Amino acid sequence: MRILVTGGAGFVGSHLCERLLSDGHEVLCYDNLITGTPENLVTAEKHPDFSFVQQDLTREISVDGSLDWVMHLASPASPIDYLEHPIHTLKVGALGTLHCLGLAKAKEASFFLSSTSEVYGDPLVHPQTEDYWGNVNPIGPRGVYDEAKRYAEAMTFAYQRVHGIDVRVVRIFNTYGERMRRNDGRAVPTFIGQALKGEPMTVHGDGKQTRSLCYVSDLIEGFVRMVATPDVNGPVNLGNPHEVTVLEIAETVRELVGSDSDIAFVARPMDDPQQRCPDISKAQSVLGWSPDVDIREGLSRTIEWCRGRWS
Ligand code: NAD
Repeated sequence: MRILVTGGAGFVGSHLCERLLSDGHEVLCYDNLITGTPENLVTAEKHPDFSFVQQDLTREISVDGSLDWVMHLASPASPIDYLEHPIHTLKVGALGTLHCLGLAKAKEASFFLSSTSEVYGDPLVHPQTEDYWGNVNPIGPRGVYDEAKRYAEAMTFAYQRVHGIDVRVVRIFNTYGERMRRNDGRAVPTFIGQALKGEPMTVHGDGKQTRSLCYVSDLIEGFVRMVATPDVNGPVNLGNPHEVTVLEIAETVRELVGSDSDIAFVARPMDDPQQRCPDISKAQSVLGWSPDVDIREGLSRTIEWCRGRWS
């Protein structure tokens, strides 16, 4: 197949490009590099069926030739990034998604949206099932991301209903792995970077808030199964239901790095969710998917990648 991956120079997108190439597809990557980097594409670039175009999706886009899929991942995704680029985050979720849907319609291609567990906001239902509508503060600082993704989902299903486009929507829960950025503000790279340098590991609040961490190769396997399952439009949660406290994540990272960093408790950011855990029964039943890589294994692989670069 010929597949456009937007946001392909980012963390998740670059792993997706490599997986699609190794599955025998031709991959076009559009990315404006606002949070991504060409370094993430060094392996993909070696493949003859890969091409990259620096392109801002908030502007009209076009592609020469046919397309089978538009896989739309482009969006700032970490709190530091979307707080630094609030209007851009809203624009890429809204205008960017609209342009990608228009392209899919014009090419008679299928459309895949990488949405987020943040559509559930600070959830009042735990674990979160796909039929929970969420608890989002639309005007809070995180609203720029949450509402952009909610809009993107709404627009995707409107295109399906009105134009008959074949769509897939996945809601991604916290994912980690090689190619995360040291300073993107997410817990895993922050803790790894601090532990490698022997600096205090900054845990928000008392660290009892929970996260459920999915290793990136598991997530990509979920994407591939979703694409291969025509009768499931979603949304489908993809994440690892093994729930751990933020303090446990810090302590596990410290142990695996072999660091003697102290834990420093610092103020929690506004609207930081208290609990985050996917209910993945739907992914298990309709995709036959569940994550394989446990947290110690995934963190060890990630730490090895970071060690050579950040120490
Ligand atoms: P990332 O920041 O590493 O990648 C996002 C990519 O999108 C970057 O390469 C960036 O340059 C590109 N981009 C942003 N705006 C663009 C624009 N206007 N035009 C073209 N390219 C643009 O983030 P990521 O973690 O790889 O996230 C990828 C996708 O997965 C996002 O849609 C995000 O919402 C979703 N997601 C990720 C997680 C996670 O834990 N990593 C969780 C939930 C959802």
